[in-house]
Amino acid sequence: MRLHGLNLRGIHHSPPLREFPPFREIPPLGSWGGDGCYDGTMADVVIIGGGPAGSAAAIALTGIGMKVRLYEKARFPRAKLCGGFVSAESLADLARLGVLDAVRAAPGIPIHRSRITVPSGAHAEANLPAPALSIARAEFDDLLLNRAADLGVEVIEKAVAVLPEDEAPWMIIASGRQPGQGPWFYGLQASFEDRQPEASTIEIHLVGSGYVGVVQQGTGRINVCALTTRQAFREGDGSPDQALAIWMDQNLRLRARLSGAHRQSRWMSVGPVAMGLRQIARPRRLFSGDAACVVDPFAGEGIAMALRSARLLAQAFSQTGQSVETTYTRAWHHEFDASLRFHRILRQFLERRALQEIAVQGMALFPGVLRWLTRKTRPTYDEISDPRPFPIAAQG
Ligand SMILES: Cc1cc2nc3c(=O)[nH]c(=O)nc-3n(C[C@H](O)[C@H](O)[C@H](O)COP(=O)(O)OP(=O)(O)OC[C@H]3O[C@@H](n4cnc5c(N)ncnc54)[C@H](O)[C@@H]3O)c2cc1C
Repeated sequence: MRLHGLNLRGIHHSPPLREFPPFREIPPLGSWGGDGCYDGTMADVVIIGGGPAGSAAAIALTGIGMKVRLYEKARFPRAKLCGGFVSAESLADLARLGVLDAVRAAPGIPIHRSRITVPSGAHAEANLPAPALSIARAEFDDLLLNRAADLGVEVIEKAVAVLPEDEAPWMIIASGRQPGQGPWFYGLQASFEDRQPEASTIEIHLVGSGYVGVVQQGTGRINVCALTTRQAFREGDGSPDQALAIWMDQNLRLRARLSGAHRQSRWMSVGPVAMGLRQIARPRRLFSGDAACVVDPFAGEGIAMALRSARLLAQAFSQTGQSVETTYTRAWHHEFDASLRFHRILRQFLERRALQEIAVQGMALFPGVLRWLTRKTRPTYDEISDPRPFPIAAQG
């Protein structure tokens, strides 16, 4: 069920919602546990945010029989600044969530190779350990949210949720990136029309202030997405087109790649983006996706972590041993700590120009190193051939 500010049909399960939009307070809700009884006006768990972390958590928790309500401040489908690279290990999670076929049927592009270039002109490329996908976030996020609604999650769009003071309902905070300590980065993204898009390869072009990712994202369309510094905006007089022109002067392979490509959307920008861990859990509050930790977009791993966290949440609520918070926190660290350590090393590499040159020239000679690096930045691997679905509880 998807509800939003302008259409309150079918809201009979909910307490009256007076302020749409914006929705400022979360109405009192039933709590998880206790004697296990709840009536139709209550939810076991409330999720804040309908991005990949929130929708996946909603699907997974519905699958273990919980009654879920999800608040999303936007009205979907909504544009989202992102490279739109969905890594291979996400596909197994998408299969478990029951959306893999829908995602594959959407206008996405399978990605088999990665290429990295540096300003000197050197470049390295390698096959990905397994095929990934490139898809616009507007479509991807909408598919996931629809799946949650189809399974009976009460989805309330155009609703800005705030954390209540008391700890009454269990809440999953999946509201995306929270403020963090510097260094701060800024993201830019636009779609370009490209007559000869190079399908199946994701490219990362390193430039003085960061990097520019280029990937096909539909017929004749490429997604250009950069992570850069505030200084780079200043150098471009605050104009993204100007900043891109400067980066194209710095990296001639980027120039060659984008020559003849015409921008066909407005630029989107986001920032400041601060990488790193925020928090995983506090009493009756569990954090997921970017709300828990922001990873460097370079690795294209943010969506994968958001999806994988849903499985960890379902496992934490299903077990009967330790507290849900402790189980989830431990499982989260067990799942992601190793790849996060590697991301930190990667960041050092991205900040040192001389190191980049040497490393990329080395990778050009030994492509196996790039494949190894790609694997190291990722959490544990699952074979897509054996996706065990989340058990989907009967609704009623
Ligand atoms: C430049 C850049 C490029 C990137 N490229 C990639 C890539 O190619 N591949 C990849 O895997 N990752 C990429 N990422 C990272 C990826 O975008 C995030 O990791 C991912 O979006 C996290 O999903 P999420 O659900 O946690 O948060 P989000 O996707 O941010 O979703 C949060 C949702 O919560 C809603 N919300 C927020 N506050 C409230 C509230 N109070 N009440 C109700 N709703 C609320 C928002 O409207 C939003 O829909 C990139 C990031 C950047 C900055």
